[in-house]
Amino acid sequence: MFGTKSFRQQFPIFQHHPNLVYLDSAATTQKPKMVIDGITNFYQKENANIHRGIYDLAAQTTQKYESVRQKVAEFIGAKHQSEIVYTSGTTASINLVAHSFLLPRLEQGDEVLVSAMEHHANLIPWQMACKQKGAHLRVIPIDQAGNIDLAAYKKMLSAKVKMVAVVHISNTLATINPIEAMIEMAHQKGIPILIDGAQSTAHSPIDVASLDCDFFTFSGHKIFGPTGIGVLYGKATHLAAMSPYQFGGDMIRTVTYQDATYAPAPQKFEAGTTNIAGVIGLGHAIDFLQQFDKKAIALFVKELGAYAREKLLSLNDLTIIGNAQHKTGIVSFVLNNVHPHDVATFLGTANIAIRAGHHCTQPLMDFYEIPATSRASFSIYNNRAEIDFLVDEIKGIQSFFAV
Ligand code: PLP
Repeated sequence: MFGTKSFRQQFPIFQHHPNLVYLDSAATTQKPKMVIDGITNFYQKENANIHRGIYDLAAQTTQKYESVRQKVAEFIGAKHQSEIVYTSGTTASINLVAHSFLLPRLEQGDEVLVSAMEHHANLIPWQMACKQKGAHLRVIPIDQAGNIDLAAYKKMLSAKVKMVAVVHISNTLATINPIEAMIEMAHQKGIPILIDGAQSTAHSPIDVASLDCDFFTFSGHKIFGPTGIGVLYGKATHLAAMSPYQFGGDMIRTVTYQDATYAPAPQKFEAGTTNIAGVIGLGHAIDFLQQFDKKAIALFVKELGAYAREKLLSLNDLTIIGNAQHKTGIVSFVLNNVHPHDVATFLGTANIAIRAGHHCTQPLMDFYEIPATSRASFSIYNNRAEIDFLVDEIKGIQSFFAV
């Protein structure tokens, strides 16, 4: 049923663009009607600010906003809803941890570990923290195929390491990292670990309690929800020990001209009027996803990726970047003598939407000694016919540039 014509009807974008072949879901997913309607309905019938008004509308909106927190907690297997912090997205979640959790603990000469395949969002916040404190950011190596070097990682986990931050699924290579093992290895040395789940939350069953990660982050817009809303999961003990990152309304307990005391987590991290409609939309996105078996989604997307790889590999003068043992429905490739931007532009004229560039992983491009790749990424509304069309159009590009 995924990828069929009737399934695609749940996504209004395909009615407005009947010929659109959307292969850029790693950048952002398309939105189901029930999410769009849920947000419209909220603004039309339920709009009020939260945690403030005592009139009915405000009370109901507050109740709905908080019930989504419980929904998120269940969705990712958190023990308690107070471990769920609303943020504007994965980037904001990671910045919050780098600022409020790591910085106060980090000292000169300490180390922070990230992998060689991190998105800039899971690299620069740690880089900045290390620069501020005279600490060192160390990079867990990968092999040419895009597998993390677990033996090297094990050796790097010394007493100097104050934090590990690693991506669950690489947005560029498609690698599914062995996060269970990485979490366990970090914890054996008493080191906290953050998992960047931006690319995994839509496609993989996530259970933060059994994973036992210290922090987990994801963005609403990559799981069929709206932009501008995301989640930071943090273990209750960590969130309790962390100071707020931003200050203002709705995050306090008491305030005088001289001083303030703060609300407990998660409220102390949600200063000001938050993205209420975004939270409502996120709740609908989770309802949408919960209709399906997460393992079935993961398998469908993985199989589309495998099919695309197989077809692309039949072409000459094409190299796939990212051939790890465990991977999902993302395929990065380069064509000999054709720049990825030209590939994306040509495909765009055929209504095929792919991404070309460094995918916010510039150091990874340096590792492969390439400036950019073309990337097709798949989701539940895609199908094999679209991949066949993609491959035919790439053949066309190759013969055009061969002239
Ligand atoms: N991490 C990964 C692996 C990503 O793919 C992305 C976005 O593409 C991010 C982090 C940042 O997510 P956002 O831009 O939603 O904050």
